[in-house]
Amino acid sequence: MIDVKEKTILNDAGIFDTMTEFEHEQIMFCSDNASGLKAIIAIHNTVLGPGLGGTRFYNYKSENDAIKDVLRLSRGMTYKASISGLNLGGAKAIIIGDPNRIKSEALFRRFGRFIDNLGGKYITAEDVGTTTSDMEYISMETQHVVGLPEIKGGGGDPSPVTAYGVYLGMKAAAKHTYGNDSLNGKTIAVQGIGKVGYNLIELLHKEGAKIYVTDINEDNLKKANTDFNAISVNNEDIFSLDIDIFAPCAMGAVLNSNTINKLKCSIVAGAANNQLENEDEHGSMLKTKDIVYVPDFLINAGGLINVYSEVNGYNKKIAFAQTEKIYYTVLDILSKAEKENTHTQKAAIAIAENRIKQIMQLKSTI
Ligand code: NAD
Repeated sequence: MIDVKEKTILNDAGIFDTMTEFEHEQIMFCSDNASGLKAIIAIHNTVLGPGLGGTRFYNYKSENDAIKDVLRLSRGMTYKASISGLNLGGAKAIIIGDPNRIKSEALFRRFGRFIDNLGGKYITAEDVGTTTSDMEYISMETQHVVGLPEIKGGGGDPSPVTAYGVYLGMKAAAKHTYGNDSLNGKTIAVQGIGKVGYNLIELLHKEGAKIYVTDINEDNLKKANTDFNAISVNNEDIFSLDIDIFAPCAMGAVLNSNTINKLKCSIVAGAANNQLENEDEHGSMLKTKDIVYVPDFLINAGGLINVYSEVNGYNKKIAFAQTEKIYYTVLDILSKAEKENTHTQKAAIAIAENRIKQIMQLKSTI
């Protein structure tokens, strides 16, 4: 339940101030008493195309937390689409509440109607807390939804493609750091063995990496150990392990002053969105510690590439092939950041923003 005392929006900054600061185009608040739906759709930028971004279903501690999350996530989607060369804008939606308690057909169909009202400016997909079958309910009310099950002509769960992109991005970072991209014998810690994390450790295990894992779900840890010999560590210890690569694959803001101080790895490369609590401060802090950080919105774009390919008729081979570009983009960004003596997040955002600026100029000419 939302704490009433927490209801002030974004503390002192008003919602429009925040939209101005992060350059959001539109925010839609959706409420339906009958189904219990409380959702926010944030459209950040539609210069390159309609805003595509998943719907996160999460039991936020406060409305402030929910708003902050949807604003951060939608902005990240703009950069992710841009840097991946897709003709898509950035948007995201969140539904407030415990998905295990309040999910229903009516709630998703009502949400689908709200999406439909936006006339295609926002296309939804699955995210943390939502599944392909939830997308099916949404698709009963709007065509602006991807991430449908394969038997319905969709691409199904995008997580294996996301994991493949993270794996390739990690290999590119290894090439940049160690001179070759083999992960054989490398020690790698993965935080969060969910849909992406599990697929990732499968690829890492095949390549002969030594894997450490942590998760709040004991069953996931047991499975990772049984299937891939992964060694479990507790949630706090994962940060201070003496390892080569750390892969955050759970929730955001996991790279902050406290955790970065503990890190002993040489590379951070994982799937979680918005890993840096503060982009500039913590991006710089990682650089100062000589830790190569692969920007999250670049390395985890496989899922977006997968759902985007549904828009024009899904083809798994094409989705995987397009995801392979992540390897080369990571190499480019890491060397650009090094040359410009800047942190990698800043270098990646500059490239993403530059593409949007160029396409905006192009669209304004005859
Ligand atoms: P998921 O819900 O399947 O997995 C998340 C896992 O993290 C779960 O096993 C959960 O128990 C664990 N977890 C949660 N809090 C934790 C904590 N504090 N410490 C350790 N473990 C914790 O989600 P997913 O689809 O695997 O996505 C993982 C991350 O990657 C998310 O941040 C998501 O936004 C991002 N991402 C996913 C995709 C995709 O295709 N699924 C695409 C892009 C980005």
